[in-house]
Amino acid sequence: MGPPGAGKGTQAERLVEDFDLPYYATGDILRAAVKEESNLGREAKEYMDRGDLVPDDVICRVIMERLDSEEAADGFLLDGFPRTLPQAEVLDEALEKRGRTLTAALLIDAPDEEVIRRLSGRRICVKNQHVYHVEFDPPKNEGVCDQDGSRLIQRDDDKPETLQKRLDVYHEQTEPLIDWYEDKGLLRRFDGARSPDEVHDRIRATLATLRLEAEL
Ligand SMILES: [Zn+2]
Repeated sequence: MGPPGAGKGTQAERLVEDFDLPYYATGDILRAAVKEESNLGREAKEYMDRGDLVPDDVICRVIMERLDSEEAADGFLLDGFPRTLPQAEVLDEALEKRGRTLTAALLIDAPDEEVIRRLSGRRICVKNQHVYHVEFDPPKNEGVCDQDGSRLIQRDDDKPETLQKRLDVYHEQTEPLIDWYEDKGLLRRFDGARSPDEVHDRIRATLATLRLEAEL
């Protein structure tokens, strides 16, 4: 868990390598199910085509299908699921039925101001989507891509007003989840304001210890 821009994707990529686990990000999984044209995929597609949110029970069934697959027998990494308390309850019940447990719920925390600073500074080139940051990784000439000379723009998603709305939704949905995992003793917090390397070292050490303990 973590707000947009806290580095979840970056950390997930590294953890997948460290622990050799399959990585399930909700958006990717839904798109994959749609592409495979499974029954569930077709169901999900109907909602997506209408521009509606895919309902909890469909998302949960798609995720469970993955967790039951051979590749997830030794563990898995979830990203973007559960996103709400009802989803967490469904996951909990499903895992219990299978005699499985979560190792941890990882939270990469970052204050709203930091998220907005990081994401609102992003600029993307119109030609090849090369990414820059006005503060951390500026182009040589303002507003122009170093690699192909095309114009740099700010995506609507990265505008401060939009970001604040996304953060409001995040807080509203995620805070109950944080409490829920805290009560279960599963929550592990990491400071997303630290460098990606530091965050990674800490998460890896935490997970390695927890997995070792679980084997004892
Ligand atoms: Zn470019």
